Amino acid sequence: MLEGIHSDARLASWLVQGHALFLFLHLLGVICFAYIVSQRLVPLLRAERDPRFDRPLARLGKVFKFWLGQWKHPRYKTAGTVHLLIFAGFILLAMRAFTVLIVGVSPNFVMPGLSGEAGHVYEVATDYAATVVFLCMVFAIVRRTVFKPARYEVPAKFGKAHKADAIFLLSLIAILMVADSLFEAAKAAAQTPPGHVAFAAVLSLPWLLKVSLVSVSLPTLGGLCFAGYLVHEIVFYFLLCYRPFGIQFHVETSLFNVYFSKLDRGTLKPVKWGVSDEHLDRVKSFGVKTFEDFTWKHMLDFYSCADCGRCSDNCPANAVGRPLSPRFITIKARDYAFQHNPMFGRWKNGTPLIGSIYSDDEIWSCTTCGACEEECPLLVEYIDKIVDLRRGMVDEGLVPQSMQKPLKALNSRGNPYGKMEKKKADWANATDFQQICQVKTLDKKNGADTLYFVDSITSFDDRMQSIGRATAKILDHVGENFGILGAAEKDSGHDVRRFGEETLFMALRDHNTDAIKASGVTRIVTADPHAYNALKHDYKDVPPVEHISQVIAREVKSGKIEFRPVDDGAAVYTYHDPCYLGRHNQVYDDPRDVLDAIPGLKRVEMTRSRDRSFCCGGGGLMLFYEPKEEQRIGVKRVQMAAEAGANVIVTACPFCMVNIEDAIKVAGFEGKMTAIDLTELVDQQIARESTAVTKEAAEVPQEYVTGR
Ligand code: SF4
Ligand code: SF4
Repeated sequence: MLEGIHSDARLASWLVQGHALFLFLHLLGVICFAYIVSQRLVPLLRAERDPRFDRPLARLGKVFKFWLGQWKHPRYKTAGTVHLLIFAGFILLAMRAFTVLIVGVSPNFVMPGLSGEAGHVYEVATDYAATVVFLCMVFAIVRRTVFKPARYEVPAKFGKAHKADAIFLLSLIAILMVADSLFEAAKAAAQTPPGHVAFAAVLSLPWLLKVSLVSVSLPTLGGLCFAGYLVHEIVFYFLLCYRPFGIQFHVETSLFNVYFSKLDRGTLKPVKWGVSDEHLDRVKSFGVKTFEDFTWKHMLDFYSCADCGRCSDNCPANAVGRPLSPRFITIKARDYAFQHNPMFGRWKNGTPLIGSIYSDDEIWSCTTCGACEEECPLLVEYIDKIVDLRRGMVDEGLVPQSMQKPLKALNSRGNPYGKMEKKKADWANATDFQQICQVKTLDKKNGADTLYFVDSITSFDDRMQSIGRATAKILDHVGENFGILGAAEKDSGHDVRRFGEETLFMALRDHNTDAIKASGVTRIVTADPHAYNALKHDYKDVPPVEHISQVIAREVKSGKIEFRPVDDGAAVYTYHDPCYLGRHNQVYDDPRDVLDAIPGLKRVEMTRSRDRSFCCGGGGLMLFYEPKEEQRIGVKRVQMAAEAGANVIVTACPFCMVNIEDAIKVAGFEGKMTAIDLTELVDQQIARESTAVTKEAAEVPQEYVTGR
């Protein structure tokens, strides 16, 4: 098409009769949209505060990567490609849509910069963009109605599907593209001598329409042009005003949602922004109990969800039939917000969310693994919301029965098992172990550079003590001047915090912070990713912390750690990424580099690995909670390892070890598959000079490997 809309005098005569109507529709559309959006903003303005106006450059970077670059979409190849095409089409068509709208009341309008050749090139590009968007809409409708990917289905327990709404909106966009193309085609046909089909955008939707219009009379073309314009305008404004009532509101909100998204992984929002820990006792109500207790950003999340189902598709709790599907945490809250904030009338508030739209089991079912957040293309957050809902339940005394004993023990003894503090270092003080590796307990007389923070499970669980011993031996082997806090160390409180018990967490954190400071260490190492995440993100003013896998990887590179070849040629290893080491802290390569440095070790990747790793089933306090489920999460995980062809699962977290070893038995893989911690494997494979040490080194983990 070589004649632009601006250059056609005939166009002015066709549209002139509709000027008053077009102007009225413009004004009506803009006023309605402004009113609807202002009403949608009402809950956000009343919501809890959330300071997200810092670090504008980092936020802009996220906009470029995740909004403009659509970074996460290709993770789902088909849906991702379609969305990329639609998004690119919309971006290209945005200026054309506005130009067309203005042309209705000012036929000679030309968008600045789009006169002459630039305008012609842009028109060709937008003709193709309209065609691509139209085809994508048809594809999306067919996909939702015929092929129906499982992740779009809505189980009855979560409510009703919004499929009709989605199809209605997709159809409207398709109609918008046809109307726009008809307007262009009728105009172009009128500019071409009869019998000619000269038109730059060959095979585009406007081109195809124009081909069918070559013999149509000028008055009819005028009527079609007028009709195309009117339908375009009506559908455009209808879509604009209808979108804030459903899943397509994300078209308007996604840019803001991405800009204001969380910048720091692994962190948790405080109980109340702007209230320091010292003043928390003045807070009357903890956590989220009613909708208004959410922060404005969390409400914006609810508005921004595209209902694509990717979060739930990756959620381990959802995969095993627990009563949790993150998608519906959002959808139910959005439906609630729309119902309670009507367009006309007053905001009805104050209904407790637990018992109305959420169940307590639903909220306790989350393992805080972060898979949902990692997958969401719109960066919708879940963990902060779920923890806030838990804080609200804890504040109301709605704590599951099975959790009460460990919480009481944490309060009185500083560990969930209720063990005596003085027994905390028993694993290190055993005489036979002391003969091989002397572990200092730090006090005023015994100082060290490095603190090995052991945490409760490794200190008290008989099986996990092997991880403690292996870690100590590795630190000893590389010549680290290290020690432990022993009885002075309490639980890191990581999972207590994620359970919603903020006050108890603060007591544990403050105790440990004082003990760490008193020890005079300059760095901390831990083999427990939960402790690692807590010390790194939840604690303040403590020395820098590393996970043992990072230390080992560095010392392998430095040459301080050398490995002997694996003995068992039939062993096929796979690495399971612990959520709080991988997704929450991005430590993916170090453990793999260590494994790949062991001569003869055969390693395979599970399909779900690295940032798509599948949680083991819930570390921390979830060990004390039995949610309703059809299958254990850990069982699914070991099945994934078997599918990958592995018979040894290596992990780097004591909680993963508990769940995976248990799952191996439940899944019927006992004798065929084993689990081993990275520290145990490294300790076993280190090439030591002393045969006595080598023999002992091999002793601890060997029992787990030879069971295969
Ligand atoms: S954090 Fe994990 S368990 Fe919780 S909702 Fe998200 S994916 Fe599901
Ligand atoms: S929260 Fe994100 S991933 Fe989940 S359905 Fe909504 S847009 Fe999709």
